[in-house]
Amino acid sequence: MDRKLYRWFHAVLAALVLTAAPARAQTATGFAAATAGLQRLDGLAPVYVDKSGARVLLLLPPPAADGVAGRYIYQVYLRAGLGSTPVGLDRSEPGPTRIIVFRRVGKKILAEYENDGFRAGSGSADEARAVSQSFAHSTVWAGDVIAEGPGGTSLVDVSGWLDRDAFGVAETLKDAKQGAFKLDAGLSHPDLDTVQAFPENLEFDANQTFTGDEPGAQLRGIVPDPHAVTLVVHHSLIKLPEPGFEPRLSDPRVGPIDHLVTDYGAPLGAPIALRLAHRFRLEKTDPTAARSPVIKPIVFYVDRAAPEPIRDALVEGARWWSQAFDAAGFEDAFRVEVAPEGMSPLDARYNFINWVHRQTRGWSYGDPIADPRTGEIIKGSVLLGSLRARQDLMIYLGLLGAAGTGKGGPNDPQTIVLARLRQLAAHETGHALGFNHNFAGSTFDDRASVMDYPPPRVRIVGGGLDFSDAYAVGIGTWDKFAVRWLYAQFPPGTDEPAALNALLEDGYAHGMKFVSDDDSRPAGSAHPDGALWDDGPDAVAGLEHALAVRRIALGRFGLANLPPGAPASDLRRVIVPIYLFHRYEIDAAAKLIGGVNFNYAVAGDGHEAAAPTPAPRQRAALKALLETVDPATLDLPDPLVALLSDGQSGVSDPQFDVEVFGDPAKPVFDLPAAAEVAADVTFADLLAPARLNRVADLSARDPAQLDLHELLATTVAAVFPKAAAPDRVAEIRRRVQARLIIDMARTEQDRRLSPSAAAELKASLVDLGQRLRTARGGAAADQALDAYFADLLLDTQRDGINILAERDAAAPMATPPGMPIGGGEDDWLVGAAP
Ligand SMILES: [Zn+2]
Repeated sequence: MDRKLYRWFHAVLAALVLTAAPARAQTATGFAAATAGLQRLDGLAPVYVDKSGARVLLLLPPPAADGVAGRYIYQVYLRAGLGSTPVGLDRSEPGPTRIIVFRRVGKKILAEYENDGFRAGSGSADEARAVSQSFAHSTVWAGDVIAEGPGGTSLVDVSGWLDRDAFGVAETLKDAKQGAFKLDAGLSHPDLDTVQAFPENLEFDANQTFTGDEPGAQLRGIVPDPHAVTLVVHHSLIKLPEPGFEPRLSDPRVGPIDHLVTDYGAPLGAPIALRLAHRFRLEKTDPTAARSPVIKPIVFYVDRAAPEPIRDALVEGARWWSQAFDAAGFEDAFRVEVAPEGMSPLDARYNFINWVHRQTRGWSYGDPIADPRTGEIIKGSVLLGSLRARQDLMIYLGLLGAAGTGKGGPNDPQTIVLARLRQLAAHETGHALGFNHNFAGSTFDDRASVMDYPPPRVRIVGGGLDFSDAYAVGIGTWDKFAVRWLYAQFPPGTDEPAALNALLEDGYAHGMKFVSDDDSRPAGSAHPDGALWDDGPDAVAGLEHALAVRRIALGRFGLANLPPGAPASDLRRVIVPIYLFHRYEIDAAAKLIGGVNFNYAVAGDGHEAAAPTPAPRQRAALKALLETVDPATLDLPDPLVALLSDGQSGVSDPQFDVEVFGDPAKPVFDLPAAAEVAADVTFADLLAPARLNRVADLSARDPAQLDLHELLATTVAAVFPKAAAPDRVAEIRRRVQARLIIDMARTEQDRRLSPSAAAELKASLVDLGQRLRTARGGAAADQALDAYFADLLLDTQRDGINILAERDAAAPMATPPGMPIGGGEDDWLVGAAP
């Protein structure tokens, strides 16, 4: 965007932000009687608490000519949550941020949400009106004016507004298949003891009860009477920020958290879609100085509910960001402290790191709560799920054994948990400061960003495992770069767009890289650097190293991996993240195949052209991936298998049940099934339709590239070796073979696959069918399997490939939840999150 447009954009925002309401005098009637005996709290607007009538009254300012009697930022949260990972509705979870308007209409007050997504920029009043009338706003509540207050003010009972389902609890329960629930007004009321009024914010709680007939399993497992779910919804009314905040347009090369507004007043040729970056107002006391203290530092508070030594680790980790602000020239601009006693985590004035409990492990979140008009962050909100630390501890026990627990030193599992918590606190606080994930962070500058997902870095030393460098310490180079760009403040008179652009060009010249969520999470995504929970610049080496660590850990796995006296059945849970230890490096290596290295360039920056992964790298990745499905890789020693079949008695524990291979109620360990699960991780990545489509396209344009025929033939040859002697892994081999055929059949039926790729896949399956028809001989079980699949693959009358695909779709692989180092972010265990 050029400088003229940039200035125009600022003029637009200034015009939108600054609106003042002229006062109108009115006589107070009945006001004294209406407020007699009520507790008055003075703040942003006067609040009256009626304890005997269980009401909360608000005294709104006199209405302007258009009837608007108050305009605020409005934020809802859950003060008290449900405690369910799959449903959501966590303690301290924020809802959407809106601009709310209280409009006086006759004897009523209407509450409306403004529509800030569509604007008319610097256009005329007529243009602004046309845009405003073109897009709906929402009137969400109406209440009677009880009395006229002094100076034309309006006294209104807002209890009904506080009691409405502003968080969308009923819809959340329905979407999570927990039943049709409705707010029960008779069982809901504002909390009269927690109303707080401050000059810049009003804070209210409401106890809301939702009733329904057929509660789902999550509600039955958590709520005392699952037909009546009582939560506490918190409402913050926040004063509109003072003028002077400088909105910053997002830049794709750094990808801050942002939101989209559409400006219909933009001149022809100017963009109408504007992405507003979310950032705190951070101003140097001396804007001309390269380094300066700030007018108001950013302070985050850590929940006192986090126990020691966890609380200390959270403070320490979140504090890493001060290094980035300092490097950007802001002195003492970022602080983290333990919350003083009595501080409300939901008070709009404080940035807060919450410690949250749920029935099963899940996400942690960081959210910037931002002014929808400008992107100014009003409050940072972080939620850390407490069970993650326990899951991490279990993984380190699985890798290291329990003997070192509590002994201190780098290989004490508890030491590693705290190192990981520092990382996590820094990561989620980073979101609350306005930063998105950078999944390329693991690939440069030796862990360049706390905004990537870090696996533990496990070194192999003398045949054992060493955790002395398990997690990076301190803020990363990317994070410093991102802070420098997002919070940069230039001396007056600077050409700001040019200066920001220069910062980015300099960063990229020094090796910065960025890959977003959308280009990393999908199994078939293209960017070779966009992977989660991977470590290092070379995904092939990373996979081989992960396999070596896994081999060592599994080779000594047994009762020593449990704390003394723990149920032996816990081994079934501990083994899962160790057996699948390499799963994220599989994802990372698979990104090389059909990989395309691209940037989020802007025209003219010299980084616009994408480049396919070189063919030798693709072939190396394929070779490494096929090692993961080698039956020898997937085998376990017999003495260990014998230890994995202990049962549990007593009522079932959801934390155990969701985490094990197979049916938790059937203890006998099924090694071939676990092997099939592991093979499916590889095949699902390798055969992702988007990947196969790209392989076909890239190889058509460059004959030296890996093509689909080579990819499929190499895979089939590795999984179906010519003469496999009967051995102890024969059954594992058959299961891997069956899994490959089924996954190929499913992919062949996938509509996302291009017709030509589908045709190649089908040809490959038919070819395999013919090979199996001619029989490789060997064990009876091998011959039976060959005949079974040959019959189906060659059955054109009944479409045997479709039969295979549909049979599997009816009962898909139950892969235990992933993201073992974090929440189960790509599976059924969790919902959506930032
Ligand atoms: Zn994150």
